[in-house]
Amino acid sequence: MLSEEAAHAFVDERLVDDEGLCAGGQGGQAIPEVLLIVPPFLKPGSPALGAEILAAACRSQGMDCDVLYANLSFAARVGDATYRRIMIPRHGKPLGEAVFAQEVYSGLPHPAPLFATATENAPNFPWDEPAAGERCYDICRAQTPGFLEETAAAVADLAPKIVGFTATVQQTMASLAIAKTVKALRPEIFTMLGGDASRLPMGQALAEIAPMLDCVVAGEADLVFPHLCQDYLQGGASPPWVIECAPPTELDQVAAPDYSSYLRQLGDLQAAGGLPETYPNHLLFESSRGCWWADKSRCRFCGLVHAGYRRKSGARIVAELRAAAERHPGVLLQAADCVMPSGMPHEILPELIEDGFRHPLQWAIRPDLTPAELLLMKKAGFAHVQPGIESLCPSILTAFRKGARAHQNIALLREGRSMRLDVTWNFLFRIPGDDLEEYAGLVRLLPALSHLQPPMTFSSIVLQRTSPFLEDAGRFGFHEVRPSPVYRYLYPPETRIADIALDFQGRWHSALDEAPELRADLEESLRSWMTTWRDPGTHPALFKVPLAGGRVVVQDTRPCAKEAIVLGDAKYADALAYFDAPRTKRQAEEVAGAAVADLLEHGFVIDWDDRYLSLVTRGHGRSRTAA
Ligand code: SF4
Repeated sequence: MLSEEAAHAFVDERLVDDEGLCAGGQGGQAIPEVLLIVPPFLKPGSPALGAEILAAACRSQGMDCDVLYANLSFAARVGDATYRRIMIPRHGKPLGEAVFAQEVYSGLPHPAPLFATATENAPNFPWDEPAAGERCYDICRAQTPGFLEETAAAVADLAPKIVGFTATVQQTMASLAIAKTVKALRPEIFTMLGGDASRLPMGQALAEIAPMLDCVVAGEADLVFPHLCQDYLQGGASPPWVIECAPPTELDQVAAPDYSSYLRQLGDLQAAGGLPETYPNHLLFESSRGCWWADKSRCRFCGLVHAGYRRKSGARIVAELRAAAERHPGVLLQAADCVMPSGMPHEILPELIEDGFRHPLQWAIRPDLTPAELLLMKKAGFAHVQPGIESLCPSILTAFRKGARAHQNIALLREGRSMRLDVTWNFLFRIPGDDLEEYAGLVRLLPALSHLQPPMTFSSIVLQRTSPFLEDAGRFGFHEVRPSPVYRYLYPPETRIADIALDFQGRWHSALDEAPELRADLEESLRSWMTTWRDPGTHPALFKVPLAGGRVVVQDTRPCAKEAIVLGDAKYADALAYFDAPRTKRQAEEVAGAAVADLLEHGFVIDWDDRYLSLVTRGHGRSRTAA
């Protein structure tokens, strides 16, 4: 645990000017009029994009504004491993929220049902072992009273006029707990909460059970928040109890974040031994909000998109990337976008690459990016992509209205392996109207894919707030839909849970429910694929190397390999290369002719989703990291 001095470093740095005198807001480094607090359980390895944008916007309006990273001090108290274990709401169980809910509301049931883990669906998460949930919860609970007291004391010392909380996933209860403690100490401080957790109707329902908040800001407040603060500080009326902000239409008008507060506080805690030197492990930027695909045909399971699609100009994105890469050499720059803007690789990457830009980048992408686009990304420094693959079953992807086909998903996994890109994805199954034949085919197919990066987790579908599946549940075959029972461990009985919940449950008919053996086979095949990739040294490979005279050698170390080495003549090499792009059966027979049977027999080419597709990667096929 950190000493009190270390925890108060944030306050001391603001109260003492260059000559070591107490500034007290006169002549020295200004104390903030507006203090934004980033509560647990935001990831400790990265600054909060939303809070930093709001702080920059307030500063641009002449206000003194700073960001207090309370999530860092809590992570230092409980230990980084414990914090990270509890931070991820494994399988819809927000244990981090339960930690602080116990401080906000009396009489809540003990959250023991949230401890249970589902290790078998995520065998590569080492912290997901049984009993980890309970152990981490107990550690966090023991530290919570001291943390709240210390944070409230730090806020009281700074005496800001306004304290704002930015709450996204698993930050609501910590926000309320800190606000409650601050109000008990300094009732005159005006408290506000905004962020993803306060979208309407959630923000309204939350305001009704949060007397420690003076105002809940719903929606994207980038342009509105500074004016609310300014009006209040200049003696104007208090902002309304709940205020809804219209999202900015021009993202170029949104302030650029400045991460110096985060880096300073992180450095203090690292110097005191409280947090690992590996942080920051990434910095966030944004190029767009909303999702261009959702504006056309929203994926039916998606609860991510809350407003229409908008994007920054190419010039602004390039300028932000260049500035961040220069200021933070080697630190991964990760896009907070729902999905990369359409056409982005060709629009901005050639210019960056030509200028010698090469910096680790990460973006959520759609799986139908072309190999040429992926190659540009690789050249610009991408080491990691998050394609929304979701499934390899053609009919499930159609039911999801993903707009990307199963063979495109597999081609992307193949290109990712060829280019040594880490490809993060999850596998969803068990939906209304799914097809047993297709699941059976997938079970037969999966061994051939063992050299491609497996999913991080697999799970039955969850109904998310604002997703088309939830909003039109009956039409899609979901019945008896209700909020997930986890919320009873977080909110008092009078809460309008249906308006506050993010995850919902229901009943539906999946063909898999009537075929338990097939379901067990499918889950076992996925688990076995994932565990094969736990250790980078054991990843199977299937790759080709061109030889003189147009010939090819294919090396195959997959457990299903028929032969470890296959030598092919020029005709065979051409046939194999032909299937780098997906081909119809007719095309396959017309062009590749006699070679097709052999390629299928060896599992070098698959017949899936009405297409023939090569699985063979280029080069030695050695992968970068474990899944
Ligand atoms: S899942 Fe991804 S691509 Fe689909 S609507 Fe949501 S953000 Fe857009």
